[in-house]
Amino acid sequence: MKVGVPKETAANERRVALSPEVAGRLVKAGLTVQVERGAGTAASFPDEAYVAAGASVVATAADVFAQSDVVLKVQAPSTAEVQLCREGTALVAVFQPSAEPQAVSALGARKVTAFSLALLPRITRAQPMDVLSSQATVAGYKAVLIAAATTGRFFPMLVTAAGTLTPARVLVLGAGVAGLQAIATARRLGAVVSAFDVRPAVKEQVESLGAKFVAMEIGEHAETAGGYAKQLSDDTHRRELEFIAEHVKDADIVITTAAIPGKRAPTLITADAVRAMKPGSVIVDVAIETGGNCELARPGAEVVENGVVILGPLNLASTLPYHASQMYARNVASFLLYVVRDGRLNLDFSDDIIRETCVTHGGEVRKA
Ligand code: NAD
Repeated sequence: MKVGVPKETAANERRVALSPEVAGRLVKAGLTVQVERGAGTAASFPDEAYVAAGASVVATAADVFAQSDVVLKVQAPSTAEVQLCREGTALVAVFQPSAEPQAVSALGARKVTAFSLALLPRITRAQPMDVLSSQATVAGYKAVLIAAATTGRFFPMLVTAAGTLTPARVLVLGAGVAGLQAIATARRLGAVVSAFDVRPAVKEQVESLGAKFVAMEIGEHAETAGGYAKQLSDDTHRRELEFIAEHVKDADIVITTAAIPGKRAPTLITADAVRAMKPGSVIVDVAIETGGNCELARPGAEVVENGVVILGPLNLASTLPYHASQMYARNVASFLLYVVRDGRLNLDFSDDIIRETCVTHGGEVRKA
């Protein structure tokens, strides 16, 4: 079976679907790997490293698509890339089918077997393939570094000849994978960190990272059986907004990561709450791609309101391309080795990992 990796074509995408190390693992597993020239350059993986790992380098994306049985990508395929797909081949990437209707119907029409790892069930068996977790880890880490580079304050407490400087107070809203990594990173930089989440199970995880959990009486069951947050009732959400408005007043940095799978991100910080914050405070809205947690955040932009800087960074994982790609590659290779049996795709749709991730197959659109 031939596995191909084109260079990512989306603007500002620096990741690549396979690292040389993981390409080598696939070669050892009996697969043939070919990579478009320069595919890994932006992630600091030179072509020679792929060749040393046993992969071959081909000149163009058209060569990759023409010669591969399975194409591995990071982002959803562009219209041009779908046109390059050969009938009956497979493609693995990360996208929400509902956000890419044209690509999905074109993949279906070309009889491509397309998988999206964004749809992977969050079950123990699928953990090694969990790209949402690995890339959220990068986002949580990088959000704190951006905040640290934006604020006019030190993060740690400093005792100097010029006096004692108090540590930054960081508040993390939403303590899932990204939020927990943000907490850990802010703690390592020496900040005093507190965090809030609607799922009570999170308290222990927050405290184990040396942060304080700020608790609110939720008064309803806010967690699904699968361990995700549910949308709150209007009344509870109103109380939550008031509760958060009180806490952001004291924060120098707020990192927001709250999300509800399949829904718009919940608003947690209103414009009025921002106006009551201290000038010089920084909000980094990691949930901006699904609508944002701060009412004033704008995708890819810096907004300043009353001296508060609100950042809505897009595609944070791509800003740390070396390690983000390394983790992504391990995830995608685990998935590939799971669906490939004896050199062929084993499409057992009674298997939840295969059934849930398969977007198109045999001309049929299975997830829209
Ligand atoms: P996510 O990105 O869907 O949400 C991020 C966080 O936002 C969650 O902690 C959620 O509770 C929180 N949130 C949602 N609405 C909120 C609100 N109104 N106010 C405050 N916080 C709100 O979640 P995630 O980071 O992908 O993971 C969520 C859970 O799933 C975690 O417990 C994680 O450990 C678990 N998980 C399990 C697996 C597995 O394979 N078993 C894999 C990944 C994640």
